[in-house]
Amino acid sequence: MSVQVIQVTEGVWCLRRPSYFACSYIVSTDAAAVAVDVGMDSNAQDFLPALKIIGLTPDRIKAVLLTHWHNDHSAGAAFLQREFGIPVYYNAGDQPFLSRKNASNGFRAWLGKHIPEEGVLVLLRGLLEEAVPEAVSASHFVSDREVIEGAFRVIAAPGHTTGHVAYYHEPTRALFCGDALAVVANQLRLMCRPVTLDLAAARSSALRCLDEDALFICPGHRAPLTKNVQQERQRLKTYLETGGRWPLLG
Ligand SMILES: [Zn+2]
Repeated sequence: MSVQVIQVTEGVWCLRRPSYFACSYIVSTDAAAVAVDVGMDSNAQDFLPALKIIGLTPDRIKAVLLTHWHNDHSAGAAFLQREFGIPVYYNAGDQPFLSRKNASNGFRAWLGKHIPEEGVLVLLRGLLEEAVPEAVSASHFVSDREVIEGAFRVIAAPGHTTGHVAYYHEPTRALFCGDALAVVANQLRLMCRPVTLDLAAARSSALRCLDEDALFICPGHRAPLTKNVQQERQRLKTYLETGGRWPLLG
């Protein structure tokens, strides 16, 4: 799978896949490199080649931070943990899916397993199986306001999934919001309504994310927002606070 590498700011890269323009991120400082989400290929083949482009080797990655369990964001995590011993962090709310504890079985599971790990149906694979392709254990369950790897503050952002979190990287002021916010044509938006589990929770999570004084907003799909960030934050915040409805397509 050809992955595009986009530099967000110094030390921050977006890895973008052709399917759904699913984005994961690498933050690399002198001290360490950290990945936020790792893509949809269970052998990390949509992640490792991109690392090479950035000039990093897997042993430089000190942690994988997952925003949520959906397989387009987390399918490669088990492989990276197993092959390179990289610690994986996520919120306990998504553990049943990431540990495959509540993975479906029977026809649903069979059908899910036969969906390829790229292309337009890849998310359906995870949704049918109700789990990632391979169980991944958390080295640590992250919780709201906790700081991970010395620099990533956790923001509980449930709604899209129960255990969805965002991470705010203080040194670069980059907000990794997963699917708590969306960016479409350089505008801040919400995720599609049909893929939002709990609209009320997702609405307050979006507001929590918008409250962060971010210079860069790095969402789970399409492209990071790097211009007019303050104005966009304010615009969506006002829209949500004044009761703006949640559009069907986000
Ligand atoms: Zn998702």
